[in-house]
Amino acid sequence: MPSQQYMGERRIVALRRLDEAQLERLRQVAVVDAFDDLTDDNRGAFMASLSRAHGLVGGKLELDEAMLEQAPLLEAVSTISVGYDHLPLAAMNERGILLCNTPDVLTETTADTAFALIMATQRRLVELSVMVREGRWQAHIDRPHFGTDVYGKTLGIVGAGRIGAAIARRGALGFNMPILYTANSPKPELETELGAQYCDLEELLGRADIVCLVVPWNADTHHLIDAEALARMQPHAALINVARGKVVDEPALIDALERGVIRAAGLDVFTEEPVSAYSPLVTMDNVVVLPHIGSATHETRDAMAQRAVDNIIGALAGDGPVSAVNESQWRRCHRSIEGSTEDNA
Ligand code: NAP
Repeated sequence: MPSQQYMGERRIVALRRLDEAQLERLRQVAVVDAFDDLTDDNRGAFMASLSRAHGLVGGKLELDEAMLEQAPLLEAVSTISVGYDHLPLAAMNERGILLCNTPDVLTETTADTAFALIMATQRRLVELSVMVREGRWQAHIDRPHFGTDVYGKTLGIVGAGRIGAAIARRGALGFNMPILYTANSPKPELETELGAQYCDLEELLGRADIVCLVVPWNADTHHLIDAEALARMQPHAALINVARGKVVDEPALIDALERGVIRAAGLDVFTEEPVSAYSPLVTMDNVVVLPHIGSATHETRDAMAQRAVDNIIGALAGDGPVSAVNESQWRRCHRSIEGSTEDNA
């Protein structure tokens, strides 16, 4: 936990996902305006608080350039997530605003979620469980109900970063799966540890039995998996997405699933969330859908909240954030707190 000092009249806005213990930690260092949620009813009050705030911390933060315009004192934003695609990083950099996130503490839990989707999709767990619940298990189970093995199948990891590597470890060490992976650059340590093989996306899609998406969503990865990419996959293959919905061209995925271009999909994330109950993705038997629960366990969400609060306290009242996306901005933020100049920072 970072060391801290009381910041007097400095103000922090807290939005969503912080329990009383974490709010109390914030109150030790600053005046805190806490909002359980952001609605049409309280948006005015939220903006009034933000206009006086030096820090913003919370989950599912809503912040755009227009809101930044109205927050002239803002020095640091701390999101309770590792992904920050919902936040205007370029505009924050222009204004010298630090952006902190919560990597590492959610890695294993999100990898568990990915693996749960792999298991459920390969073995048709949801579809067959619903069959039992609805009283449709009336005869012995035969080929129409059979699933597909996980053990020994080739696992393709698109984005072998923290979470991708943790999924790869589960596959290689627990299920004897050969691992293919893509990333911006090769990961020699993963190759030594797991015998993983680096290849381009095209080759991975053509060879993997299960393709797992774990890249950040950005301009480069928007619709990385489109109709062309899906057509490269094997007809028996499954697509697992625990990254972000917009990494996949959803209409193309629906089409591919309906036409049997690929066999199945396991999805934790969607283009629009919550996904509509009328989306074909929700009603198809060969799709397992989850409500974006990658990191949603008691232990991990508590650890993420703790980290986010450590970050904002470290940024505004201590020795610096534990984890930040644009760490260089902290120097500027820190200078303004210390009242020091460019020369002695
Ligand atoms: P990370 O450690 O930064 O890993 C991201 C990986 O993606 C890196 O290996 C990176 O390659 C690779 N990558 C980036 N752009 C790529 C591209 N265009 N093509 C191929 N690979 C690319 O991040 P992480 O902690 O594993 O998290 C990954 C993402 O998962 C987050 O950004 C978030 O969107 C998502 N996530 C979702 C949930 C959920 O609830 N479903 C929970 C947590 C995270 P290099 O290492 O070579 O740069």
